Amino acid sequence: MTVEVVVVGSANADVVVRVERRPGPGETVLGSDTVLAAGGKGANAAVAAALQEARVALLGAVGDDQHGELLRESMSGAGVQLDLVRTTDRPTGAAYITVTPDGENTIVVSPGANSAVDVDQVEAAKDVIAGAKVLLASLEVPLPAIERAVALANEAGTRAVLNLSPVAKLSRQTLAALDPLVVNEHEAQWLMDGATDLTKLLDLGPKSAVVTLGSRGALVIEKHGTTEVESPRVTAVDTTGAGDAFVGALITQLAAGDDLAAAARRAVRVAAVSVTRPGAQASYPTRGEVDSARG
Ligand code: ATP
Repeated sequence: MTVEVVVVGSANADVVVRVERRPGPGETVLGSDTVLAAGGKGANAAVAAALQEARVALLGAVGDDQHGELLRESMSGAGVQLDLVRTTDRPTGAAYITVTPDGENTIVVSPGANSAVDVDQVEAAKDVIAGAKVLLASLEVPLPAIERAVALANEAGTRAVLNLSPVAKLSRQTLAALDPLVVNEHEAQWLMDGATDLTKLLDLGPKSAVVTLGSRGALVIEKHGTTEVESPRVTAVDTTGAGDAFVGALITQLAAGDDLAAAARRAVRVAAVSVTRPGAQASYPTRGEVDSARG
């Protein structure tokens, strides 16, 4: 199998219930009908990339259950290669999400099969990683697998991109291999112990960094300078998975040969369309839809 992009990351079923208010300890409240959707940061980014017409594979794991089927169908429907997705005897990862009328949510993630992604699975994909142009990693799978994937990419000359979400402490060696490290503002603050000058992210070692800034777009930080990338103005209805849409589009453009600033300019357009529609994967636009959207 040859692909341009390998994504190492999670696949989760999102189980969403709307509630008037959250239950306190020992309390039961009634909620809306359950909405079940395909999610997980790895699967989301892979779907976003496939819809932007990258040849992309997910390296991950699901369970032998209905949630696993849902994820496989959603990803293959978008065109993601699933040869590197293992079926394990653990249940498919799930995110239990409650949403209140003010739009706030709480999320409990049960990693399940995602915890089974290990160094051996990554090693087995060594040639696919070496043959790809870009490797993307995100952190809902065990850190040793992520760090090995980045090291293999680096050895092979495959560009390594890492979305540090959720935040975790990376080795200096892994950080030094990233081009770029992608974080949102909160993750950037955590990494820099609250310092406000985002250009200091490069002091942690990555070759470049991208900070996503919600409706304000993104900041591209490179050794030779910093580029502000504005987002098109849209009316957001649901920002779930916007960060994953952004990185999925970013890696697609990097694999196609764009420089980082140009890739980020396209990525904000893709993410802006995604926030105008409900859901994560279900909200992601095709390449043609982005071309015809204004902005
Ligand atoms: P999430 O956790 O919701 O997936 P995130 O916190 O990782 O997102 P954000 O910085 O909130 O990341 O958003 C990622 C990108 O999505 C932004 O850089 C921007 O391009 C786009 N985006 C997010 N919110 C909006 C919005 N309200 N309007 C337009 N674009 C948006």
